Amino acid sequence: MQKLVKRLSVAAIAAAVLALGAQAPAQERLPIFDAHLHYNSEPALLPLDKVLEIFQRNNVRGILSTSRPNIGTHVLMDAKAENLWVVPFIRPYRTRADIQTWFNDPEIFAMVEEEYKRGYYRGVGEFHIYGKAAHGEIAKQLVRFAAERDLYIHAHCDEEALEILYAHDKRAKIIWAHTGFSLSTARVHELMEKYPSLMGELSFRSGIVESSGKLSADWKILFSRFSDRFLLGSDTWIHERWFQYDNIMNGYRGWLAQLPDDQARRIAYSNAERLFGPRRVN
Ligand SMILES: [Zn+2]
Repeated sequence: MQKLVKRLSVAAIAAAVLALGAQAPAQERLPIFDAHLHYNSEPALLPLDKVLEIFQRNNVRGILSTSRPNIGTHVLMDAKAENLWVVPFIRPYRTRADIQTWFNDPEIFAMVEEEYKRGYYRGVGEFHIYGKAAHGEIAKQLVRFAAERDLYIHAHCDEEALEILYAHDKRAKIIWAHTGFSLSTARVHELMEKYPSLMGELSFRSGIVESSGKLSADWKILFSRFSDRFLLGSDTWIHERWFQYDNIMNGYRGWLAQLPDDQARRIAYSNAERLFGPRRVN
């Protein structure tokens, strides 16, 4: 009898393990939209087939492409890859040096206007702006340019600049690169309430998980309140990030698995679909 109980419990454990195994791959295979992707030309473009393989391997089905210069985004659009939805954004940079000066540089605005003529862009950014520099004339013009054309803005900024950008045009729709990095969740919550069009992109965002890998209590609350307002991103701003790509996506999957399925799916993919869909065939 004891043997039978033992055998049964082993069978029960095996069944439980099997059930877990059946759930795990479904969670692992959650499609992801990478809302912070640079395919930069410096020092040289990573070969396209390599990049597409990286997306495929990570079940990244869509990307927000913002490249310096914009040629990287042209290449991704022209690739017409079957399993990849490319949402192109106009990057207002020609070289890395433009990061420091773009917001007062009329040539940048002219470049954005020219690039827009391609007809397929859905937004402008990522651009960097801090504090009162957001009052810069070109920053103001760019926010208005985007608002008038129903384009999104992808802004890497602090909270002061974020509020100035919104003040330029109330119609602005901003994807906040890095969601304030280490800004308190209480303040992120306030800003999300204040600006209903604000979306938080989560690359390099600190505090989401504890050192044990457990989703932090603060972020669990924030996600339960605003699961329709967050996006994932790789931020491949340097080559190294491409080599870390699998780890970055696995890191996201680690905490997504700790959220209710509906919240995880929104953050991983559906929010981007709501913003930029329907998916267009490139
Ligand atoms: Zn970036």
